[in-house]
Amino acid sequence: MASQSQIHQLHFLFIPLMSQSHLIPFTEMAKLFAHHGVKVTIVLTHVNAARFNTILEQAKASNLNIEFVSLRFPGQEAGFPEGCENMDTLPSLNLTLQFFAASSMLQKPLEKWLEELESLPNCIISDLCLPWTTEIGLNFKIPRFVFYTTCCFCLVCNHNISCSRVLEGVTSDSQTFLVPNIPDRIEFTKAQLPADKRTSSDESKKIMNQLETAKLSAEGLVVNTFEELEARYVEEYQKGGQKLWCIGPLSLCNKAISDKFEIGNKTSIDECNCLTWLDSMKPNSVIYVCFGSLSEMLASQLVELALALESSDYPFIWVIKRGKYSEELENWLVEENFEEKIKGRGLIIRTWAPQVQILSHLATGGFLTHCGWNSTLEGISAGVPMITWPMFAEQFYNEKLLVEVFRIGVSVGVKTSADYGEEKDRVLVRSEDVKKAIKQLMDKGEEAEERRKRARKLGEIAKKSVEEGGSSYMNVKKLIQHISENKSIIR
Ligand code: UDP
Repeated sequence: MASQSQIHQLHFLFIPLMSQSHLIPFTEMAKLFAHHGVKVTIVLTHVNAARFNTILEQAKASNLNIEFVSLRFPGQEAGFPEGCENMDTLPSLNLTLQFFAASSMLQKPLEKWLEELESLPNCIISDLCLPWTTEIGLNFKIPRFVFYTTCCFCLVCNHNISCSRVLEGVTSDSQTFLVPNIPDRIEFTKAQLPADKRTSSDESKKIMNQLETAKLSAEGLVVNTFEELEARYVEEYQKGGQKLWCIGPLSLCNKAISDKFEIGNKTSIDECNCLTWLDSMKPNSVIYVCFGSLSEMLASQLVELALALESSDYPFIWVIKRGKYSEELENWLVEENFEEKIKGRGLIIRTWAPQVQILSHLATGGFLTHCGWNSTLEGISAGVPMITWPMFAEQFYNEKLLVEVFRIGVSVGVKTSADYGEEKDRVLVRSEDVKKAIKQLMDKGEEAEERRKRARKLGEIAKKSVEEGGSSYMNVKKLIQHISENKSIIR
């Protein structure tokens, strides 16, 4: 076993993709490893360093050994407006691949920074979306691990769909097919799969191949999940020979370390207001509605949602992120006197909400989510049943997990994935469908009660996994041990 003084000599370098849903778990992971005695340096860019500064300062004030190196983001060279350094400020999400390309220009300045260090870090934990970090690992002979920002179920589905070539037999986007050789019976249509599985674009395929190669050549994967949640999929993935460490839910690690930390961004309304408002609500009565940091929707689609929230009888918090739809939606809200109509029962938060705190509040009884993995896992950790409204990327996989595998979710019934940035010019979900899903979830009947019980149980298991001696807690220790033992061999 590595002694405490050996651990204190360890230094990990974290390289995240500059996107909220990657930066948030990376900073949580930094706190976690620092809590275990390791020194962590996170690579950020100037704008993101300013955004995450308070969180990192709070961590330092708690004696956690976390530093960040702030690099200039070469966004303008790649054609992005000044200050656009995070995916949530991209003019359109169909610029995602260009954003990845701009990120790869961080390689040289990062290598220069490494060259100037007196001693090199003992390992790199880099983002799944940054394949160029492979070269850094090789050039400096530093072992590299990939941080995978979604779940093992998704890893296995993606792998088996690709390797089995099952899609070759699928003739239309709406034809269902069975995901081969996985522990559960799961069907998808091609229209629900991530864009790279549907596209014939060579550019997109090339990038996906680079990500896959970078993943497979890593020493192992670090995943924000916990073993008890998806043990069969953890096992299934490892049959392929690559080791992985489940160390989540990272959003719960704050609890284990300190309650004082902020998460991700400054909240847009006084956090206390929102939590005080929740204090005034009955237990399990409020539906929290949030579509993550990236999703773009049509104003007309959001109007359907607004009508459903208004006409259902439940209190709600609805987070409206700024987007292309903002002006049209805001006009509608004013014309309809919406906020006046829902006063006392509904609360709108514009831009950013303290999601983890809202979800863990006793008054929150349901979560309408776009099924991004962080949100999905945060909902699971809080023991809250969910309404699933997936949009793109791996979100339909997460919906299947919630609705069919864990049976703690009710689907709103979306049939088609929207490609990155592609704005569908039609409404995909009608207000009646949202209302029906809300009723089904918040109902007092037996089915809803059983769903709530299952959700609560999973939440309890999640909490245990990060406590001292829990599976994720032990996996963090094992990973540190692994790196400590191998550092003399690798150098
Ligand atoms: N989030 C938040 N407040 C908001 C919106 C999002 O704290 O108002 C956080 C949320 O808790 C999660 C992350 O942002 O940690 C979103 O990640 P996810 O993977 O769910 O979705 P994405 O943003 O990638 O679509």
